[in-house]
Amino acid sequence: MADAIDSTDTPTPRRKPKPEKTSIGGRELKPSTLMMGHGFDPALSEGSLKAPIFLTSTFAFENAAAGKRHFEGITGKREGGAEGLVYSRFNGPNQEILEDRLAIWDGAEDALTFSSGMTAICILMMAYASAGDVIVHSGPLYAASEGFVSKVLSKFGVGYIDFPAGASREEIDAVLERARAKADEGGGKVAMIYLESPANPTNALVDIEAVCAARDAQLKKSCPIAIDNTFLGPLWQRPLDRGADIVAYSLTKYVGGHSDLVAGSIAGAKHWMDPVRALRNTMGGIVDPNTAWMLLRSLETVELRMERAGQNAAKVCEFLRGHPKVQGLGYLGFLEDARQKDIYDRHCRGAGSTFSVFLKGGEAECFRFLDSLQIAKLAVSLGGTETLASHPASMTHLSVPSERRAALGITDSLVRISIGIEDADDLIADFEQALERV
Ligand SMILES: *Cc1c(COP(=O)(O)O)cnc(C)c1O
Repeated sequence: MADAIDSTDTPTPRRKPKPEKTSIGGRELKPSTLMMGHGFDPALSEGSLKAPIFLTSTFAFENAAAGKRHFEGITGKREGGAEGLVYSRFNGPNQEILEDRLAIWDGAEDALTFSSGMTAICILMMAYASAGDVIVHSGPLYAASEGFVSKVLSKFGVGYIDFPAGASREEIDAVLERARAKADEGGGKVAMIYLESPANPTNALVDIEAVCAARDAQLKKSCPIAIDNTFLGPLWQRPLDRGADIVAYSLTKYVGGHSDLVAGSIAGAKHWMDPVRALRNTMGGIVDPNTAWMLLRSLETVELRMERAGQNAAKVCEFLRGHPKVQGLGYLGFLEDARQKDIYDRHCRGAGSTFSVFLKGGEAECFRFLDSLQIAKLAVSLGGTETLASHPASMTHLSVPSERRAALGITDSLVRISIGIEDADDLIADFEQALERV
């Protein structure tokens, strides 16, 4: 019988220089510097300073052994995914550059990109949960994430238990004990602890460090802690530094930042990414090359945009705080609860630019306010260059039963605002005239 061809050492020319420079004279380069060129070598693309958009469904192998080697990566016979480009459902140059750059912001080893935030979250959960398993999650979650756990995964025999975002270490311990008992009953395991912090739209923070300590004490490292960091990432919170294993994003929000695309990502250690990559290879759901290219452009300014939006939000909230028609604010910069303030101080680098305003009155007053805004647009979503305002009780959270809405603090007097990068005083003038009409 003929010997199998050894595919180990055919060199593959790649889009990026190896090894890549991430430091100069012992100085570690900052993410904002690396966003301009990391992961791309112009010399491999006709000298094009910016990465071209690679519109192709498949990639030519330089020889048969290289094709074999790449498929060993795709099928998991070789760890870490394909080391070459194969087929556009698996990988592509624009997506790989984007993944390399996203990983930098969270200090992650690896990242994966998807066609939406929800694609990222659904494939992540499916990769880890089997029938009989239990997912433990903080609440509230983004409505579609909560629905995927309670309505879709449940059809495949995956159970869940949730706990309130602000829970103490003792409460988290108790929830994990219940989850372990439930998993034992179903003949499964606790598959994942899934967090969202701050929670939408209340801005309640989860104590990632306490969740991590509870997991380590009861479940060892077998069960990953994943967290949706869309509201504060990548600038204002780095969950992997606090003990989380996997960070998830809707890139549609701050990272895309211009309200002109939909995409998602996850990041973490390679060994946590590999099962998710394998399922993405099977199902599809990778971000398309054009959207990946747009995100590369967005990443060059993400720090500038988020800093400006954060400064604007601080000024606007200072104005709103003293206003006679405002009952209260759900803004991370003005936390009064000692437990929440403690979590904030340990976890967050900034208060963000998405917050809730509670007006005196109810739906009628909020609607008058929203209908009077002249600069801020009336729309859901967040994290874009423009300021948006919405009424969660009658819009994003309309489908949530009213008792659950009340328990979560989503009242008829709540307006959610995402501050953009306009002039702060212009925004204040807009909110001032809209409040006068209430
Ligand atoms: C928008 C959002 C999502 C879903 O992301 P898409 O890109 O719209 O699929 C998930 N989590 C949070 C916190 C979000 O704000």
